[in-house]
Amino acid sequence: MDDGAKVTLDGNLPDRAIFDPQDWQLTDFEADLCAETRRLAQSKFAARASIIDREARFPTENYADLREAGLLGICIPAEHGGRGADLRAYMLAAAEIGRYCGATALTFNMHVSSCLWTGFLADGVDMSAAQRAEHAEMRARHYRRILDDGAVYAQPFSEGGDAAAGKTAFGTTALVTDGGWIVNGKKIFASLSGHADYYGALCTELATPDTRPSRANTMYLAIPRDAEGVSVEGEWDPLGMRGTVSRTLIFKDVFIPHEDQLMPRGVYFNAAKQWPHMFMTLTPSYMGIAQAAYDFTIRYLRGEMPGTPPVKRRMYPTKQLAVAQMKIMLEQTKSLWFQSISEARPNPGKESLLRAWAAQHSVMENANAIAQLAIRTCGGQAMLRSLPLERLYRDSRCGALMLPWTAELCLDMIGKGALYEPGESDED
Ligand SMILES: Cc1cc2nc3c(=O)[nH]c(=O)nc-3n(C[C@H](O)[C@H](O)[C@H](O)COP(=O)(O)OP(=O)(O)OC[C@H]3O[C@@H](n4cnc5c(N)ncnc54)[C@H](O)[C@@H]3O)c2cc1C
Repeated sequence: MDDGAKVTLDGNLPDRAIFDPQDWQLTDFEADLCAETRRLAQSKFAARASIIDREARFPTENYADLREAGLLGICIPAEHGGRGADLRAYMLAAAEIGRYCGATALTFNMHVSSCLWTGFLADGVDMSAAQRAEHAEMRARHYRRILDDGAVYAQPFSEGGDAAAGKTAFGTTALVTDGGWIVNGKKIFASLSGHADYYGALCTELATPDTRPSRANTMYLAIPRDAEGVSVEGEWDPLGMRGTVSRTLIFKDVFIPHEDQLMPRGVYFNAAKQWPHMFMTLTPSYMGIAQAAYDFTIRYLRGEMPGTPPVKRRMYPTKQLAVAQMKIMLEQTKSLWFQSISEARPNPGKESLLRAWAAQHSVMENANAIAQLAIRTCGGQAMLRSLPLERLYRDSRCGALMLPWTAELCLDMIGKGALYEPGESDED
């Protein structure tokens, strides 16, 4: 909120930054990018969020705005004509979008990941000189599609089994053929299905139909939406994040030419091992939601929430206590998250990795805990569908379910990682 200004969630006056540039010592680039995404999301996306949620439809108009603002290329390296945001700058800017429309922020993450994996992250990953040269050509094509044609990418990894949890090879296969691959498989929960121009799909390369699938042979391919053999199926009527339109994708004998690799063979597997913080890119949407639930509560209890009677409720000690609890949880979450995205680097040490899992778990679980407290504290009238709080509550519930770092898997990894050193076991 601007000091002294009366602010509305769907209003014209700018909200205050989630991460105050001075307090958190942001760079000028980060501060400007966050101000830009916040302005866009508050002025345009906030008012559309309820209808997108109600109809469970893709926020096409928000993507037109993102394109017009040049934000589709937010993580395309500057030398390729993009904004050149690194991981932290992107995460901070994306949290401002999540504050106003969780589904837009989450789908935007799927699109942006295709640029982060191939750009900022790939630059820090081991590659041979030949792979580096091949990669430079591939990504230039991919970036031109985004910057010149406004192409939007999805990121369908999940298959319903444990591949997206990083435990086994992807069941979607890319069989080597003349000039490229034949792709077969099924991806569940594919956000942007039917709306993205390309599906940045992970699959397992097979030299022959009898090759044993191996995670080391993971391929990252750009599959055009209208390629022969691509279809979308199933209903989409979920609890939350309804605007993501995460339906099921089917690939049936889809031919993908060599040039439609997003990374040279073998590189994704190394990148995922060397850059684990990359999986935190699912968190900014939920960081934004946590802030939004807190903001809502403050305005509502002060009697300043548009669409509600100007009744003050802030004088009740029980409400003050609940707000204090929310604020503590929000500050803990912000601090841990900020530290983790600030220290993200290739090949992090054990403590940094444990902290990343702790940050992921905290954002995903605390966003929901804060939204839950917000509903209890604001009371019955605050959960009406005419207000954003009930959507924030439903959307916030989805974060803990997102592979590969679900809240449960974070607990598993933190517990084991804290108690065992690599290679240690209890069997002698
Ligand atoms: C709104 C929304 C949008 C999404 N968008 C995308 C998207 O764009 N792209 C995408 O790829 N995915 C997306 N997902 C999918 C998400 O990341 C998960 O993959 C999906 O929720 C998995 O569903 P599941 O029921 O199979 O999960 P789970 O049952 O939780 O997990 C799947 C498998 O992981 C393993 N596993 C899970 N927990 C454990 C454990 N504690 N210990 C050991 N193994 C375990 C098991 O083998 C299990 O069968 C989205 C999900 C949501 C909710």
